[in-house]
Amino acid sequence: MSFTTLGLSKPILRAIAEEGYTTPTPIQAKAIPVVLAKKDILAGAQTGTGKTAGFTLPLLQLLSDAPQTKGKPRVRALILTPTRELAAQVGDSVKTYGKYLPFKSTVIFGGVGINPQIERLKRGVDVVIATPGRLLDLANQRCIDLSAVDFLVLDEADRMLDMGFIHDIKKVLALLPKKRQNLLFSATFSNEIKALADGLLDSPTLIEVARRNTASESVEQRIYPVDRERKRELLSHLIKDHDWRQVLVFTRTKHGANRLTEQLGKDGITASAIHGNKSQTARTKALADFKRGDVRVLVATDIAARGIDIDQLPHVVNFELPNVSEDYVHRIGRTGRAGNEGEAISLVCVDELKLLRDIEKLIKRDIPQVKLKGFEVDPSIAPEPIQQRSAGRGGNRGRGGSGGGGSRPKSTTSATRQDSGRSRNSARPGTKQRSRDSHRGNR
Ligand code: AMP
Repeated sequence: MSFTTLGLSKPILRAIAEEGYTTPTPIQAKAIPVVLAKKDILAGAQTGTGKTAGFTLPLLQLLSDAPQTKGKPRVRALILTPTRELAAQVGDSVKTYGKYLPFKSTVIFGGVGINPQIERLKRGVDVVIATPGRLLDLANQRCIDLSAVDFLVLDEADRMLDMGFIHDIKKVLALLPKKRQNLLFSATFSNEIKALADGLLDSPTLIEVARRNTASESVEQRIYPVDRERKRELLSHLIKDHDWRQVLVFTRTKHGANRLTEQLGKDGITASAIHGNKSQTARTKALADFKRGDVRVLVATDIAARGIDIDQLPHVVNFELPNVSEDYVHRIGRTGRAGNEGEAISLVCVDELKLLRDIEKLIKRDIPQVKLKGFEVDPSIAPEPIQQRSAGRGGNRGRGGSGGGGSRPKSTTSATRQDSGRSRNSARPGTKQRSRDSHRGNR
C-alpha cells in the first residue's frame, strides 16, 4: 500500500514524500480513509505508531476540500493534547505536512506568555493544537472563537483523563458547534475513556492497531540487575563502554533526574534534565540540545517525556522502573519508532523486583537479563520500600504514597496535572493559587 492510493492531494503527498515516508503505517492505512469519509473514529494507538500523521493528513485534506470563506481564517480544526510537549510536537507535524497548503496553525499551551498566543489568534488561524487549560483561559478571555470548529481531535485521551482534564475537556466541548467530526485517540480503553467516547462520538469506527508492547519487536529489551547504590556507576559504564551518543534516561522523580544529571556530568558525560519543575523554555532548550547531539543524555520523568519524539532514538534506559507498569510501555515506545531498531535497558535493583514482575505480566513476556561482570548483585542487600527512599533522600514528596506498589494512586489525578499555565483562581473562586509543582506531584 502506498500513500497515493489513500485519496490525499498532491501538496500533502509532496510534503510526506519529503519526510521520507513511503508506506503508510497500519494506523494511517486504517484511519485515513475513514476520516476522509467524514466518520468519527475511536482509535487505539500508542505513540510511535504514526498516529499523528494518521489524523493530521486527512484533516488537512478535508480542510482543503472545503476552503474557508474569504477574510480572516476561523478555527476549523482543534487538536487537544495532554502535555505541552505533545502539543508542540503535533504542531510541528501539522506545519510539516501542511507546508504546501495555505493553512495557518498555532500551538497553545500554558507555562509561556499568553500575549503572543493572543496576537497569533487575532491574525486568524485554521488549526489550533492546544492543551485544555490554556485554551479555556483564552476562551474565557474571549480571545478564541471555537464556534466554527468542524473537526475535533482528542490525542492521548487516556493521558488527559489521567491528568485530571475531564472537566476542562467538557468545558471545551461546550464551546464547540454540535455538528462536527470527532477523532479520539487513546492508548488504552478504560471505562472512563468508553464513557467519554459514548458522549462524544457519533457511531464511531473503531480502529485498533497492535499495541506497542506486543508489536514492538523492533525494541530490544534487557534488564541489568544491579545494586541500588551502583546504578549511576553502571549507567556511566554502559554509556562509555558502548559509546552511546543519544540516550534517554528515565527516573522516577524530579529530584532523582536532577541528581543523576549532575552525577553524569561529574563522570564526564553531558546530560540535561527535563521535568515538570523546569520552565518551558528550559525544557524546549534541553530537548533541542539533545536532538542536535550537543547533549548526550536526556534525563526525564514520565510526564515530561510524553510527546518527546525523536526520530531513531537508539537507546532508552530505565534508571528506575516506573511505579505504573503502563509507563514502562510508554517509556520504551520512545525508541524503535516507525520501524527503526531500538534498545530499551532497565537497571533493576532488589527494591524493584515486584515492579519488574508487574511489567513482565503486562507485556506478557520475560525480559532477558544481562549479568555484567564487575556489577554482580550483592545478595545480602535487603529490599527497601521505594517511596520512602525517594522521599527521604530528596526531601521531595513521593508519588502519592503507593509504597512502590504497582497501581496508580488515586491522588495523582490532580497531582500530575501538567497544563498549569492557567490561573486556578478563575477556576476555583476564593482559592489561593497554589504553586505549579504542588499540583504536579513529584514527576
Ligand atoms: P507518532 O506515533 O505520530 O508519534 O509518530 C512516530 C514517528 O513515526 C514520527 O517520528 C513520525 O515522523 C514517523 N512516521 C509517521 N508516519 C510514518 C511513515 N508512514 N513512514 C515513516 N515514518 C513515519
